[in-house]
Amino acid sequence: MIELEEARQQILDRITPIGSETVPLAEATGRIISQGVPTRDPIPPFDNTAMDGFVVRAEDTRQASSDHPITLPVVSTIEAGTPATTPLERGQAMRIYTGAVIPSGGDAIIPFEHCLRHDPDSVVIGSRVTAGTHIRRLGEDVAAGASVLEAGARITPAAVGLLASIGADSVPVFRRPRVAVHSSGNELVAIDAPLKPGQIRNSNLFSLCARIERWGAIAIARPILRDDREAIRTGLQETLDLAPDAIVTTGGISAGDLDHIREIAREMGDDVQIRKVAMKPGKPLVDGLIGGVPFFGLPGNPGACLVSFEVFVRPALAIMEGRTDGLLPERSGVLKTERSLPAGDRLRLLRGRATPDPTGGPDVIEIPSGQGSHLLTGFARANCLVVIPPTAQNLQPGERVLYWSLADEEA
Ligand code: AMP
Ligand code: MG
Repeated sequence: MIELEEARQQILDRITPIGSETVPLAEATGRIISQGVPTRDPIPPFDNTAMDGFVVRAEDTRQASSDHPITLPVVSTIEAGTPATTPLERGQAMRIYTGAVIPSGGDAIIPFEHCLRHDPDSVVIGSRVTAGTHIRRLGEDVAAGASVLEAGARITPAAVGLLASIGADSVPVFRRPRVAVHSSGNELVAIDAPLKPGQIRNSNLFSLCARIERWGAIAIARPILRDDREAIRTGLQETLDLAPDAIVTTGGISAGDLDHIREIAREMGDDVQIRKVAMKPGKPLVDGLIGGVPFFGLPGNPGACLVSFEVFVRPALAIMEGRTDGLLPERSGVLKTERSLPAGDRLRLLRGRATPDPTGGPDVIEIPSGQGSHLLTGFARANCLVVIPPTAQNLQPGERVLYWSLADEEA
């Protein structure tokens, strides 16, 4: 048996970024930027007012106080989008609206509501202002020639706004990995087929494709591989012809006579490891490269298959796409319910549900019954994997536990 972390390290050592592409800005949300985008224009492109009011020269207000207000003539009005055609002379004010260019000579804004009085032709000011008040500076957000965002940053809606503000109508992003998914087994049928005796529906294909798409990668659903050496070989070869960035299979990797995937992977691939990982669920694992493409042979049991995906495939996809959120975030919480478990020699990853404590205490963790690797009902409600050391046996309410959150991939 190999420890989870050691197996993962060996797997991730083989993974490299898959490169970048350019996409229209409107399609870039959620993608990972592959290099910072330079701007020619500073943002904001000019000094402008943050408030509706009057633009003045600060020094003209030096003597203003509530006892001795000053009155300045209002010589013109400046609207956003239409700069003033004359400079602001000493002793003058101009009416100005948010976003309008500060006229030359002007250096402070007095909002309407801070004036003692104003009418179309004059403004009465009862306190001094300092230069720069309510002025948004040229280049305050982005200096001319600077780059916005850094390689590896996720393009959030605000980042889209930033990119739009510098006129980036297309953006360099890491490619989304294309992940081919095969289920395997003679017992599997399509989910819309009636079940004959001994058959089950091919649910793993759907859960894995859902997981891959939710992660932000592209799932390519492939045909079921039947438990036949030649069929598996042909199926994997046809998938390689599609030039995927990764291949994931489920089932066929245990020690049974019909578990051919592991041998075929070894025959077709390089550095293919047939592992027993010290984790439960998810002990069997096959990984390596087939035709240079990272290959992940996950267990067939539906719960195990998803747990193994989270632990091994997700971080690999993250590296391919330049992402830093590959490892499930580790948190801690307290158990709500008692639970007795047999001691063993594998790390237990129990499907649990963590909820924030409304009184600000540690998160409260429920562990539903039905933790078998073949069960999905509890998993369907879960938002975390509760990490229980191999030898822990009787878990008590209130006990501190670590958990890996399934809830916060950023995609
Ligand atoms: P295997 O590793 O192929 O022996 O499969 C382990 C268990 O998982 C068996 O009970 C299979 O029937 C079940 N199983 C395998 N593949 C799938 C699948 N695609 N969907 C649902 N269950 C599966
Ligand atoms: Mg099977």
